[in-house]
Amino acid sequence: MTQAMDSRSASTRAARTRLTRHPVALEAARVVESIVGARCDVVVFDSERAFVVASSDSTFTLKPRRLTAAERELQHGDAEVTHQNGIVAARFDDADGNAIGALTAWAAEGAMPDAAWAGFARQIMAVLAESTIDDDVFRTTLNGMRDAVFVIEPDMSIRWCNDAVGSLLGRTANEVMRMSAFDLLHPDDVALAADAISRAQQGLEQWRVRIHLLSSTDEWVPVEVTGLDHSGDDRIGGLVLSLRYANYARELETTVDRVERMSRAIVSGLRDAIVATDEFGAVTVVNDVARTMFGIGPDVTASSLTLEDFELLDHEGRRQPLELDPQGHTRIEACVISPERGLRYARVASQRVEDESGRFVGTVVAFHDVTGERRAQEELKQQALHDQLTGLANRRQLNARLEEIAHLSEPVDVAALFIDLDGFKLVNDNHGHRVGDELIGVAADRLAEQLRGADLLVRQGGDEFVALLVDIASIDTAVTIAERCLEELAKPYFIRKNRFDVSASIGVAITQSPMADSGALLQQADIAMYAAKAGGRNRVQRFDAALAEAVSLESRQRRLLRAALDDDRLVMHFQPLVDSASGEIIGHEALARVQTEQGRLLTPDGFMDAIANGSLMWELDCQAFARSCHAAALLNRCSPSELRYMACNFSTVSLSHPDVLTMIDATIEAAGVAPQQICIEMTESAAFESGAHAVNVLSQLAERGFTLALDDFGTGYSSLSHLRDLPIQIVKVDRSFVTKLGEKTAERAITEAIATVARELDLNLIAEGVETQEHLDHVRELGVETVQGWYYAPARPLTDCAEALGAVSASD
Ligand code: C2E
Ligand code: CA
Ligand code: CA
Repeated sequence: MTQAMDSRSASTRAARTRLTRHPVALEAARVVESIVGARCDVVVFDSERAFVVASSDSTFTLKPRRLTAAERELQHGDAEVTHQNGIVAARFDDADGNAIGALTAWAAEGAMPDAAWAGFARQIMAVLAESTIDDDVFRTTLNGMRDAVFVIEPDMSIRWCNDAVGSLLGRTANEVMRMSAFDLLHPDDVALAADAISRAQQGLEQWRVRIHLLSSTDEWVPVEVTGLDHSGDDRIGGLVLSLRYANYARELETTVDRVERMSRAIVSGLRDAIVATDEFGAVTVVNDVARTMFGIGPDVTASSLTLEDFELLDHEGRRQPLELDPQGHTRIEACVISPERGLRYARVASQRVEDESGRFVGTVVAFHDVTGERRAQEELKQQALHDQLTGLANRRQLNARLEEIAHLSEPVDVAALFIDLDGFKLVNDNHGHRVGDELIGVAADRLAEQLRGADLLVRQGGDEFVALLVDIASIDTAVTIAERCLEELAKPYFIRKNRFDVSASIGVAITQSPMADSGALLQQADIAMYAAKAGGRNRVQRFDAALAEAVSLESRQRRLLRAALDDDRLVMHFQPLVDSASGEIIGHEALARVQTEQGRLLTPDGFMDAIANGSLMWELDCQAFARSCHAAALLNRCSPSELRYMACNFSTVSLSHPDVLTMIDATIEAAGVAPQQICIEMTESAAFESGAHAVNVLSQLAERGFTLALDDFGTGYSSLSHLRDLPIQIVKVDRSFVTKLGEKTAERAITEAIATVARELDLNLIAEGVETQEHLDHVRELGVETVQGWYYAPARPLTDCAEALGAVSASD
């Protein structure tokens, strides 16, 4: 066993020496890679390790690696080729038939027929078989060989020959060894032989000549001779010739047959469709993949076809026969209609084949099916440019189209509709995203029906759509289309047995291409859409001069407030809250003012609308609250015996701000006031529209001991149930009610109802806007405890309030 192993590792070593960077091994590796498209190694192995002696990428090192499972299987079994874990290996053996190496490729089973693998491995084996003959076994081996071997001296005397000469010339070795080579050589071949010998003597190893030698029966036997000069080696001392019977015809036949079998096996094993023609254009090869691709039945012979039978589709979908560049290589991408597999994309590559003299002998065309690749690319493109939910175009496509339109050479009118569903959030919140998604899908379909093919309908995200109407007659047409959309969207939606009614707000803007700013159109449509929302929803609003003016007014206001906040020009005024029975001041409401650069004081209607939804609102509330808390502390120092509260307004934006509690805590602490001294006023919408966070904030504030007041009650939703559900202590009845309490109006009825509910729920009522004695009488009648209004005092600077309190205290 040990001996066997020793001889194995000796032959491994010999094979390593022999094969490392051997041209045949390298070529085999490269050819295999070019066929299977994966790296291929030629390795020599011992029991554990594989030495890569040639690799298709030529960058191998001789550091051994572990055997692959496939190689291990070859080493221990009889198989010529194995497939394991995506690796194919074909073995080659030493002289004793032991597997000592493999041709290994990282390719899947079927990448190349097994016969082809084995064929390549056999080539490598042939290299191994040429190994140097061991001195000890030299003669024995030569005698056992099929070829006749002669050792001849430079003077052509035959020094030695092996027994195989018997079967070649019908003469015994002893007989031949007494002869001169000239005795056997045909006179016509003398010059050829002399030339070959002199070439051998010059050290040229690769030579081969065909000569004729005389047999024992006086026949001229065709012989192929190869040889090496070993005259310098004293163990041999001559030219070693190897002679083989040369039956040209048969040999040629078998070679051609083998090559043909090999290439047929390779061609049929390929995944590409292959079609080959001869020099006259007649088809000679059609592999199975090509038959499937072009729908050619097994009974149709290749020779009955021409290249015209392989039809392609051009870009317009027209059928075109395959046309090749007669000069050389064709590389095109085309479509093929496969009867079995439908539309396929193929990369077509043709190669002109020439014989060794450069004569054209035929063409090989390969069709590489890239349908999978193409589909994947198209899917990616589809995903990149479309909204997943509705399949409509997405924002990216919208931007691309706008860019395109912006640079049109011919002037074209383009309108944009900015469409936003009203109340969609409620559907999502109350019925879940699935239902919401379905509703969006239906809305998308309804919108699409209202548009023309050339228009682009985009889902911007959420419940927002944009329609781009190219080449529109006028903004009136666009508005008409928008109104149609509105009508369609307002129809009921039946989803999962539920009926939903959702309206929409649509903004319309128009522009003419080419345009300098492709974003402006959308921006204007967006502004118009917001105006539609603000105007009460379920309507179409066009972007026009008035809207543009309003927008620019808003932006002026925003700039003004920005500057005022930065330059410390926010000023707080305070309006007393008065006990309706005693006339005593029980607190103040802090109201923000902005001082202009020119020193004028602006009330909130000069800046508030513009900032209602933005981050400026939060900044304003923070600053106002800080000033109000300091004012509260100061006023309480004026009259420490009577604790008066300070009412501070908080916007929707601020109440839903994530930092609102932290801000409030820090501010009262810095000012040194207790939560009990602060009342926080908010509107119903601030409490409810901003969702769970705001409600949570309110209950936390109530827990800390702040007083909470519901402002402007009677406007907006005015749900009496809110009075019960919110942790409030005060309800402020809006001024618009107070002024109408005199007559028998709806306002009076509502105020009475509010007063009743408030009493029941133990809530305090404040009447706003009490300007006259009459107003005061009316509110007293209804049992309102606290009043606020010009009848007592307008909002005024802190010093005035402090003075007034001083007066009150003094008169006490
Ligand atoms: P509001 O909270 O309803 O404040 C009462 C408004 O009525 C104040 O208007 C006040 O000056 C006015 N007013 C008081 N008594 C009378 C009266 O007898 N007759 C009439 N016609 N008006 C009276 P102002 O100061 O212009 O404030 C307007 C609104 O701005 C406030 O309404 C409030 O919603 C908001 N606001 C004011 N300051 C702030 C603030 O610091 N933060 C927030 N978020 N909003 C504020
Ligand atoms: Ca208020
Ligand atoms: Ca109010």
